Amino acid sequence: MTAHDPSLHRRGGLLGWLGLGSRDGDHASTAPPAPGFERHQTSRDRHLDEIGAFLGYHQLEVNAQTLVIASDYLTGNDPQIVRLIDRRVQAREPVTLDWLEEALAAAGMGEEVELLDRLMQHLEQGVEEFGKTSRAAREATTAYHSELSKEAGKLEGVPSTSAVITELATITKSMLKRTLEIERAMQRSEEQTRNLKHKLEETRRSAEEDHLTGLPNRRAFEFRYEAEYREARAAAEPLCVAFCDIDHFKRVNDTHGHDAGDRVLRLVAENLARISNERCHVARHGGEEFVVLFRDATVTEAFDKLDRLRAQLADRRLVNRATDLPIGQVTFSAGIADVFACGDRRLALKAADAALYRAKLDGRNRICMAEPDEAKPPRMAA
Ligand code: GH3
Ligand code: MG
Ligand code: MG
Repeated sequence: MTAHDPSLHRRGGLLGWLGLGSRDGDHASTAPPAPGFERHQTSRDRHLDEIGAFLGYHQLEVNAQTLVIASDYLTGNDPQIVRLIDRRVQAREPVTLDWLEEALAAAGMGEEVELLDRLMQHLEQGVEEFGKTSRAAREATTAYHSELSKEAGKLEGVPSTSAVITELATITKSMLKRTLEIERAMQRSEEQTRNLKHKLEETRRSAEEDHLTGLPNRRAFEFRYEAEYREARAAAEPLCVAFCDIDHFKRVNDTHGHDAGDRVLRLVAENLARISNERCHVARHGGEEFVVLFRDATVTEAFDKLDRLRAQLADRRLVNRATDLPIGQVTFSAGIADVFACGDRRLALKAADAALYRAKLDGRNRICMAEPDEAKPPRMAA
């Protein structure tokens, strides 16, 4: 038997490994598999055996994380895990812990972003519709009220000899009062809708903003990148992307503390934000990394713009304002890529990242241009 042997579960598997033994015997060989057996078997022992088989088959070490993943996969509790692993297996790629962590992080983020976005759209649509309905209702009530007022005026002019007329006038007056109340209630509801809309807009903004620097965050960048990519391609305009990373930033934190580190991050963000406009988008990608998107600029133009900022920042000598101790020079390195020359937006990001890595290796405080095929995987030797 090899570690890849899926029949592991029929021979004790994890249950044996955990030293639990099998309480009701080796039912795998006697009971016929029920429909959906692969994932929905409920017996605790069988489930543990299956987990063991799964981990053994994929040569995954047994730890809390892999146990949970295996269990979620086998029970189908987490459809996302099922989808990811099934696709991976179909593609005949190995299911490793590194791959699992990376794939789950990427998928988790994507789905969360999508879910939030759908939820926001739904709410915004709902509020918009409600706003329209309540405005229309209020307008109709106002129109009805003014019609009714005219009729009431006419009725008052009629000599009230008839009891019917008197009755009609009373009813009309109470209807006038009621329409007025409805109108006021509608007005309040319109106001509430406006507030709700405002709050929704604020929430959306806040979900797309990095709270430390005030720059758009990675989520906002992803949306922007996708839109700019589509538009630039349709307009046959160049598009460049740059990754910037503060040099030896850990030292700033270690020497001057996290708060000073935060202030330095804000300062670098402010510097980068100076070149942002409707054709140039700066975002915090995470940690001490920023990303810049240059629309309608050649890679040389984009390089020059960013390099001027780099030089300006490198010329400054910073002081920790909390302690008056010198922080000294703070620099960043960057990698910049021509998106369309790289093939697509993902490859361009990878290429910019690879160029950034080169800039670090070359001594930092510099920008490197990505080679168009820098992101492509190296050819395997035959
Ligand atoms: P390199 O030049 O190779 O990029 O070195 P580095 O020290 O900048 O890189 P490293 O990745 O080793 O360290 C990055 C540090 O950035 C570690 C992390 O604590 C710090 N950091 C990330 N986000 C924040 C933040 O929001 N505030 C502060 N103060 N520090 C942060
Ligand atoms: Mg970094
Ligand atoms: Mg760094």
